[in-house]
Amino acid sequence: MKTIGILTSGGDAPGMNAAIRAVVRSAIYYGCKVYGINRGYKGLLEEDLMEMNLSSVGDIIHRGGTMLKSSRCEEFKTEEGRKLGVKVLKKYGIDCLVVIGGDGSFNGAKKLSEMGFPAIGIPGTIDNDLEYTDYTIGFDTAMNTVIDAIGKIRDTSSSHERVNIVEVMGRNCGDLALYAGIAGGAETIIVPEVDVKLDEIALRLKTTQKRGKRHSIIVMAEGVEKVGSASDLKKVLTEQAGADVRVTVLGHVQRGGSPTAFDRILASRFGYRAVELLLEGKSSRVVGIKDNKIIDLDIQEALAMPKTFNRELYEMAKVLSI
Ligand code: ADP
Repeated sequence: MKTIGILTSGGDAPGMNAAIRAVVRSAIYYGCKVYGINRGYKGLLEEDLMEMNLSSVGDIIHRGGTMLKSSRCEEFKTEEGRKLGVKVLKKYGIDCLVVIGGDGSFNGAKKLSEMGFPAIGIPGTIDNDLEYTDYTIGFDTAMNTVIDAIGKIRDTSSSHERVNIVEVMGRNCGDLALYAGIAGGAETIIVPEVDVKLDEIALRLKTTQKRGKRHSIIVMAEGVEKVGSASDLKKVLTEQAGADVRVTVLGHVQRGGSPTAFDRILASRFGYRAVELLLEGKSSRVVGIKDNKIIDLDIQEALAMPKTFNRELYEMAKVLSI
């Protein structure tokens, strides 16, 4: 009988609970024992863990956040920290670990695997910044949260004939801005992957103003240092296009909320597959989804893949928002 440890680490994402539920239920179904580790790698080093049963994960599939809590842990980046982590895992008879998180958390799992401790990664981040998988848990929910906010901002933007800049999360990845911008019908989408000048955006705004467009939504990803900040853009649009501009930074609202059906199903499929992999004796793998098929690949290989940007979709968005 295997004993599986599970933790959530790094930035939380809606749907992590559905993944925990899937891992716990599948593991118990197949006769394994499961320990839930609280607060990610930090909780591991502090021996903050408990055995989980079928009802530990009852009534959580629809809840945002993570019942196991999450954290960042600098100590785990050191060799001594990880050695302590392995010692704790062994003390409780845990022989493999499922890590739900983003690329940082996967790096921790990779290091554990390199030390000979079997680990499997499940991608949970609203950023969708992992190349090997089409979607990460939480992205769909966050996208819907942004669309909902854009809809509300659009109402007031239209009433007051304003330009509204909506800043969304995503770290260095523009996926959230791109997808939410398309679905929300934004006039302009600014992402870190495409270099644009603030003057160009002002010019574009002036052109649409001439055509009679009185209000406009600009979706801007948070990681666009090269282009400038939302307040830099506000200044340029005010000065060059005479626009009445407001900035809304959506912030952490994007990380919360009940997960969408898509995220719940994705998380369930990932969790189930992660347990299957461990039972097949595989480790040092990450699960993902490609063309609606659940896949798995070597963790190192997955982390080495640079994230590409869907330029085709970006160009389409430009055409549709003229
Ligand atoms: P995310 O998983 O959302 O990308 P972080 O990048 O903050 O979040 O990483 C979460 C945690 O994963 C870190 O606080 C640390 O404990 C662990 N981690 C990140 N990078 C490494 C690494 N290179 N080696 C070991 N552990 C790491």
